[in-house]
Amino acid sequence: MLTADFEVLDQRFAKLVFGNVYVEKLWTGSRWAEGPAYFPAGKYLIFSDIPNNRTIRFDETDSSVSIFQSPANNQNGHSVDREGRLIACEHQGRCVSRIEHDGTRKVLASHYEGKRLNSPNDVVVKSDGTIWFTDPTYGIDSDYEGDAAKSELGDQSNVYRLDPMSGELTVVASDFVRPNGLAFSPDESLLYIADTGFSHVTNGPKHIRVVKVNADGKTLGESRLFADCSFGCFDGFRLDTNGNIWTSAGDGVHCLAQDGTLLGKIKIPEVVANLTFGGPKRNRIYICGTTSLYSVYVNARGAVWPA
Ligand code: MG
Repeated sequence: MLTADFEVLDQRFAKLVFGNVYVEKLWTGSRWAEGPAYFPAGKYLIFSDIPNNRTIRFDETDSSVSIFQSPANNQNGHSVDREGRLIACEHQGRCVSRIEHDGTRKVLASHYEGKRLNSPNDVVVKSDGTIWFTDPTYGIDSDYEGDAAKSELGDQSNVYRLDPMSGELTVVASDFVRPNGLAFSPDESLLYIADTGFSHVTNGPKHIRVVKVNADGKTLGESRLFADCSFGCFDGFRLDTNGNIWTSAGDGVHCLAQDGTLLGKIKIPEVVANLTFGGPKRNRIYICGTTSLYSVYVNARGAVWPA
């Protein structure tokens, strides 16, 4: 029997969750929780508390919570690269950075064609080690989540591909209003990108688009609308090994099938900004919900590992 924490809208969802399972509230105390990334080697989760300018570590072994970085350059989205290093989107730093194995911070990308990036928002690492990220203006729109500043790129909020070996930074998409969360399909033939442009444009997008990755693995092809958000907006999201999309929304986590059908919801009593799969079997979803960190076990596994 499913608890009231789940809402089944399509019977396929009933197979992706468990009976007698509840959402757990693990910790509270953030102003805007974002950017969860799970480190399987250390069994901990790193996530952002953007307005409080800190990153937080949840230790899965004893459920303790501690400060990881403070100040933290108003970091937003995170990912873990193929070498197990933390990749961070920095609002205040207006860059994508990496924590090296020796603990030092290295800026990987801060400018495009001589102009400062806006405020990198969310990031994913492809299996070839390249780093793909979005660069909307949220971190420079005000002093709340970074330092207010005028965009040097004009109104352009691009999606970028960074080769961390050569440092080459290329625009892979420039037709989003405010690109936000992003994630590849399990075979990396598709890239899903959220657009939260409704925040800046009347009746603007609050949807996810799906974009074909060209055969070169470096550029993007045609795109189409994947799903509109029915409550709030889609911010960050992850895919499971079967290609289902588990995405943040205004009323919790929405699970979408590959055809875009809303299969069901994990209900969270706060706006959710982002999530990631964790746990030793990567079947535990960690959920950043505004003031709190939540988690829930599901009958699905994260597609990318670590992430
Ligand atoms: Mg985001």
